[in-house]
Amino acid sequence: MPGISRRTLMRGGGVLLGGGALLPAAACSRLSAPTWDVVVIGAGITGLSAARNLVDHGWSVVVLEARDRIGGQLHTDHSFTSVPVELGAGLIHGRDAYTWELVEESGAETARVRGGSGNGTRIDTDSPPLDFEDAAAYLRRTGVPESDWPPVSIDNEPLDRWSATWMHRHDLFDWWAASRANYRVVDGYDRVLEPLADGLDLRLSTPVREVRRIRSGVELVAGPDGEEVFRADHCVLALPLGVLKAEDVRFDPPLPTSHRDAIRALDTTDALKLVYEFDRPVLPDGPDALGWEPGSDFVFWRLSSGTSEVVVAWASGPSARDLLAREEDERFAIGLTALSDVLGEDLPDPVARTTHDWAADRYSRGAYLYVPPGAHDAPAALAAPVDGVLHFAGEPTTGENTVEGGYANGYDLTDQLIAEL
Ligand SMILES: Cc1cc2nc3c(=O)[nH]c(=O)nc-3n(C[C@H](O)[C@H](O)[C@H](O)COP(=O)(O)OP(=O)(O)OC[C@H]3O[C@@H](n4cnc5c(N)ncnc54)[C@H](O)[C@@H]3O)c2cc1C
Repeated sequence: MPGISRRTLMRGGGVLLGGGALLPAAACSRLSAPTWDVVVIGAGITGLSAARNLVDHGWSVVVLEARDRIGGQLHTDHSFTSVPVELGAGLIHGRDAYTWELVEESGAETARVRGGSGNGTRIDTDSPPLDFEDAAAYLRRTGVPESDWPPVSIDNEPLDRWSATWMHRHDLFDWWAASRANYRVVDGYDRVLEPLADGLDLRLSTPVREVRRIRSGVELVAGPDGEEVFRADHCVLALPLGVLKAEDVRFDPPLPTSHRDAIRALDTTDALKLVYEFDRPVLPDGPDALGWEPGSDFVFWRLSSGTSEVVVAWASGPSARDLLAREEDERFAIGLTALSDVLGEDLPDPVARTTHDWAADRYSRGAYLYVPPGAHDAPAALAAPVDGVLHFAGEPTTGENTVEGGYANGYDLTDQLIAEL
């Protein structure tokens, strides 16, 4: 994606409209629920960007977030070691990513991480895929040798689980094949959330349980026991696909068939990071990452080095699923053995370790999204507003499973709302 600014940089100039936003939370009741122009569900990068843009344009907005923190799948753990650890998103993909403007605005320090996944071969994908064809079958049918296939499974599901049409339509065969430098935020990726969240009306620990479409807009029932009611003209739903699939949020009346079918057709991958701290450097001098070793279920990279070293072991797709089916201790043991095998030496016991199970996390229910065969039109179907008041956002509506994608979508969606209303 080109590095165009997503921000209109109106922050601070916005005037909160809508009397309800001025009411104390205690005034909320089913009889006299305060009203906003927009209620945003989910304070991940998508929801925060959407709310930021609306507030900066003078709209009254409340953000309802189930967890006791913002960021969603962008989750920095500052408690593990002296260096912050990313349990979810960790990498900025290339120099063109939109999120660089947030990095600059927050003043965060970045470091380059060796990418190394690209094989440099552009795939000739002129011949159109069949509607329900998977990406592996398509490459086979069009005679692309396996040695030229993009290394999708490093980050995601294997090619036979992807829609060939989706990958073809969005140039994804070549996106994955391209070699690009990745970057990480040294003092924690959550630094980039600061400029977005600043001054927003954020209600943490407020899971939304029900979304009702009413004559004047929407009414949301939220809170640990469903005891709060929020009313608004519009609702932006920046929820993970897994949460939508599990029907954790009820819709009254139910969503149209087109939207329910779209949610059913899309899927989430599994992804797992095992993070170890050793009391001495263990990775070879020089490269900060060990490339993808055929036959290994992991990619390894270092987060810090000095007298001690923090190393990430990354697994995705079927490898991650296999690990997630095991006890946590066993996952760590398998990751350590794999690192030891790749290095060809015994390793010391780690002095600390951490991980996060995104599949078991009830506010995520899986890691990020992929588009299975036949689901290529599902994101667009889900993106269509429902009754002009419900606006789904984020990965399920764009198919783009990155922080950059969520950031851009939060702005794009609300730019459209602002222009139309
Ligand atoms: C392990 C892992 C590694 C990743 N690595 C990268 C990477 O290196 N680079 C990259 O760009 N991307 C990466 N991603 C993907 C990236 O994190 C996501 O694409 C992005 O963060 C999604 O943002 P979002 O706001 O759309 O969704 P989320 O971050 O999932 O936010 C949704 C929010 O909704 C909240 N919520 C859920 N249910 C409710 C409810 N009932 N009521 C209210 N709130 C609710 C959640 O708590 C959450 O805060 C990774 C993801 C994972 C899991």
